[in-house]
Amino acid sequence: MFCGHCGGRLTSIVYREKYTRKKDGTVYDRSQLKYLCYHKSRGLCKCDGQSTYVAERVDAAVVELIHQMFENIKDAPDEGDIQKRFAKESASSKAQQTKLNLELKKNSDQLLKLQDEIGATLTGDSVYTPEQLSTAIKTVENRIVNIKDKIERLQNEVNCKKASLEQIRPMFEQFVRWARDFDTCTIEQKKMIISRLVTRIELHKDYELTVELNEEYQKFCENWVKLTESSVISA
Ligand SMILES: [Zn+2]
Repeated sequence: MFCGHCGGRLTSIVYREKYTRKKDGTVYDRSQLKYLCYHKSRGLCKCDGQSTYVAERVDAAVVELIHQMFENIKDAPDEGDIQKRFAKESASSKAQQTKLNLELKKNSDQLLKLQDEIGATLTGDSVYTPEQLSTAIKTVENRIVNIKDKIERLQNEVNCKKASLEQIRPMFEQFVRWARDFDTCTIEQKKMIISRLVTRIELHKDYELTVELNEEYQKFCENWVKLTESSVISA
């Protein structure tokens, strides 16, 4: 957690308030957890933010933000945005490959015909000279190499994406479990989830928060950008 004004790290402190009311002698003694801009409190920098923030208020706002984020994906636990995107990309790649394979077939047939023609040029029965024919063959051969290259690249791309999708699947499943259980979790569990989801929280004056989600998880939820569009939420 960082100070949004000086960028310094915030530390947790227990702030103890103890005083006796003069009127009736009641003793007030309460402790409150606060986040403190250490640099500001020590006069180590010209931070123009707040010195302390009530931790409870900040934590509650972060929990609420994460709750809202999970709310949307709870409806479709089996269909990650990523899987949908992959299926789409994979289909478009297949269509491109089909087109390229047709082109490959056309060029291969053409090459065979040109090769057949070689005999005819040797006996002088062809309309082509051997030089013309050899140039034509080279052109078609180059075209074939290019097409094969493209097909291979497309196949590799899909395979790579599939492999990385397999890799992130456990992560995605974890994410979905969190989404499902978040609201009924204990505070400690919520804190654990948040610590794994969120990479940076910045606190600004008047309890404005900027929350940065771990990139790995960000791709699972399209609504994250929407949620943080203003990039600032208020506690
Ligand atoms: Zn500061």
